[in-house]
Amino acid sequence: MTNAGALVDSHGRTLRDLRISLTDRCNFRCLYCLPETEAAQNFYRGHWAHLPNSTPIVQQWVEKSLILTFEELERVVRLAVGLGIQKIRLTGGEPLLRHGLEDLVARIAKIPGVEDLAMTTNGFLFAQKARALREAGLRRVSFSLDSLDRDNFKKITGRDGLNELLESIRLAQELGFSPVKVNAVIIREINDHEIESLVEFAREHNLSFRFIEFMPLDSARAWQKEMVMTGAEILRRIRARFELRPIAPDNPSSTSKRWGFADGRGEIGVIAPVSEPFCGHCNRLRLTADGKIRTCLFSVAEHDLRSRLRNGASDADLTGWLREVAWLKEARHHIGEPEFVPPPRSMSCIGG
Ligand code: SAM
Ligand code: SF4
Repeated sequence: MTNAGALVDSHGRTLRDLRISLTDRCNFRCLYCLPETEAAQNFYRGHWAHLPNSTPIVQQWVEKSLILTFEELERVVRLAVGLGIQKIRLTGGEPLLRHGLEDLVARIAKIPGVEDLAMTTNGFLFAQKARALREAGLRRVSFSLDSLDRDNFKKITGRDGLNELLESIRLAQELGFSPVKVNAVIIREINDHEIESLVEFAREHNLSFRFIEFMPLDSARAWQKEMVMTGAEILRRIRARFELRPIAPDNPSSTSKRWGFADGRGEIGVIAPVSEPFCGHCNRLRLTADGKIRTCLFSVAEHDLRSRLRNGASDADLTGWLREVAWLKEARHHIGEPEFVPPPRSMSCIGG
């Protein structure tokens, strides 16, 4: 694919990665995403006297008729691939809440030009669908695992689901999903004391483990800079215990800095969008469950694809419009700067 038909933005980046949110709903209530549980609210109130913020996002779930259908999603992916998109990641909300997910996976996996098809999930419902998803053509899966302590896991996610998640990770490996990645959002005074045990877990199970900085995308707008364990702090902690060796990025748009261990077991990565932004080589585009294109995680504007899909736009109309939208991709985010405005919707709606 030459750049002639590709999605190029006004800063010279070519977009290759489309993240599709399949639903804004979730069976978890993570305190960095949908902090609606008492435990989450106690944490924010107890640690930070001036919180929670007086202008939380009022979470209104998207009505079912506004959610893109599998037919619509298949059409969008086909068009996007024609515009140079190579990687598709299914996410949410919790993608496994979408009925018949394996049918959608099968449709997307069959589209010529989809080089990489992956899913991000909290893993709670994964075991029920794992075989069907694998057979349908899903190759890669990333799980979110923020704690190995049952009580802390429940405090963070609002669900007593650690065992289900551990079983899902085991099953994904057994079924040959590769690589099986695991993500942890590290929040000061919540799970920073578990960094080392999470690393041990990654090594013991030969997993690709990613530590992620807490971003201001929670629905309570309770994020504060002081809560962020920076990538550098996380790395310092790991290096105090383990000998690390840098691994070259797997592609130039990779968001994580990767490290291997001297004995070759396991691999970790640190994703530091807050303290070390990687916007300059971001090649991502996002599609929300209700059919809005977002050019950045932190976009304050969304572009309405759904109405075009439903009002009879031709393929040529849509590809032309997608090129115009891609051109508008923001140069960078402004977290930590006085002019930073958080996006109007939280992470579960945007699609992580
Ligand atoms: N429900 C699925 C899950 O949790 O894996 C998929 C959607 S979730 C929004 C995708 C990823 O976003 C997860 O790895 C989650 O940890 C991450 N995430 C959510 N809120 C975040 C925040 N405020 N800062 C950093 N990462 C966040
Ligand atoms: Fe749900 Fe994922 Fe958000 Fe947690 S991070 S509340 S699992 S969407």
